[in-house]
Amino acid sequence: MSEYFHSVTLDFEKCKGCTNCIKKCPMEAIRVHDGKATIMQERCIDCGECIRCCPNHAKTAVTDTLDILSEYKYRIALPAPSFFGQFKELENADCVLHGLLSIGFDDVFEVALAAEIVGFLVHQYIKDNKVKKPVFSSACPAVLRLMQIKFPDLLEQIAPILTPMEVAARLAKEEAVRKTGIDYEDIGAFFISPCPAKVTEMRNPMTTKHSAVNGVIGVQLIYKDIIKYIIKEKTQKDPSRLQKATKLGMAWGYVTGESKNVDASTTLAVSGIHNVISLLEEIERGELKNVDFIELQACIGGCVGGPLNIHNLFVGRVRLRELIKKCGSKPSYYTDEELLRFYTQGHYASTEPVQPKAIMHLDEDMSKAIQKMERLDQITNELPGLDCGACGSPSCRALAEDIIRGIAFETDCVIKLREKVKTLAEEILDLARIVPPVMADTSKKTGEK
Ligand code: SF4
Ligand code: SF4
Repeated sequence: MSEYFHSVTLDFEKCKGCTNCIKKCPMEAIRVHDGKATIMQERCIDCGECIRCCPNHAKTAVTDTLDILSEYKYRIALPAPSFFGQFKELENADCVLHGLLSIGFDDVFEVALAAEIVGFLVHQYIKDNKVKKPVFSSACPAVLRLMQIKFPDLLEQIAPILTPMEVAARLAKEEAVRKTGIDYEDIGAFFISPCPAKVTEMRNPMTTKHSAVNGVIGVQLIYKDIIKYIIKEKTQKDPSRLQKATKLGMAWGYVTGESKNVDASTTLAVSGIHNVISLLEEIERGELKNVDFIELQACIGGCVGGPLNIHNLFVGRVRLRELIKKCGSKPSYYTDEELLRFYTQGHYASTEPVQPKAIMHLDEDMSKAIQKMERLDQITNELPGLDCGACGSPSCRALAEDIIRGIAFETDCVIKLREKVKTLAEEILDLARIVPPVMADTSKKTGEK
């Protein structure tokens, strides 16, 4: 099996060991030892929270670069709906789509268009089946990875439909084969991404065996080129119309957009990985059984809040909404018959169930594992419970786990270290008070004057 790829990585040189990131990581995946952070790969969900909070820019996302285009005969850009929120005062999406053509792509396919299809497919799935409620969206890979690790019992409630990115890649390639006659394998589809989790998803897909996406390019890598193109284009005549998505699909770029596409009777939209965790904890306890569909997004505000975007999430959201208003109303690019055909053929249904992922094996031997668990509880109870993070682990419980796993010591806790130093100092003082028998004043013992 190939090694699991993570997009989020640490630049060791830049890390100052400030411990800012250990508290922000929702998975308690970061430790700071010897003045440097490390990411525990098996826990990381590539949510990018640590990229946002590191004051030293030591956390980065590895994405593909435009060099990858040269590996394919025909190259299609798949811009995320949130991408359009990065540009101000757009009259329509066309100049951005033309901008993508100007930097080396042969074609564009809006992921917003695929989002409309996914919305329809999830709607039909909820309508036609006796599903266990609530049904969760499958679109955010960071949320799916979170559920694999922390909420395995809820995995069966994930909508079994591919993500808009995946559907867009398949549709775009099929369309390109028809249009150009070029072989499917020679056509590359490249997602323009606000998010490191999408890079990880392309390399290690959860709902399909093989991703149809050939590369994921971070927004920040091409932003300046598109801006230059838009400024130049303003002085030229109207670009030809490339935009096919309606405002419904484009709204997928911010939280609530997906729910509007799914259009179920009762929906809920939640964004921000910590909010998602607390909501899923409630659902595990039996809440919200009557809600049809829940949209879950790891980034606050949805994809406009993605860590690879250039602009603040509120700026991105306002700009995207303004653009959507200007788009006006137009019918869906795909007819109702085509959408229904996509549904009945199951062409865009998930082929793999999302599997649970265990992250902490105390021991292969059950009785040893129980002993270790008891020891873990004991160490946790003996720690001060301040969760200060000064030890380099995010909480006292996490430090106890690290001690059991052999990667930390009880004295990494500053309070414990202080107690130990105090006890040692007292022992030294006691020892200092002891006088050797030859020097001892024996008169005290005998009572002689
Ligand atoms: S926030 Fe984390 S990665 Fe960034 S400098 Fe501090 S310890 Fe290192
Ligand atoms: S990407 Fe998310 S899960 Fe991974 S280390 Fe950073 S904050 Fe933690």
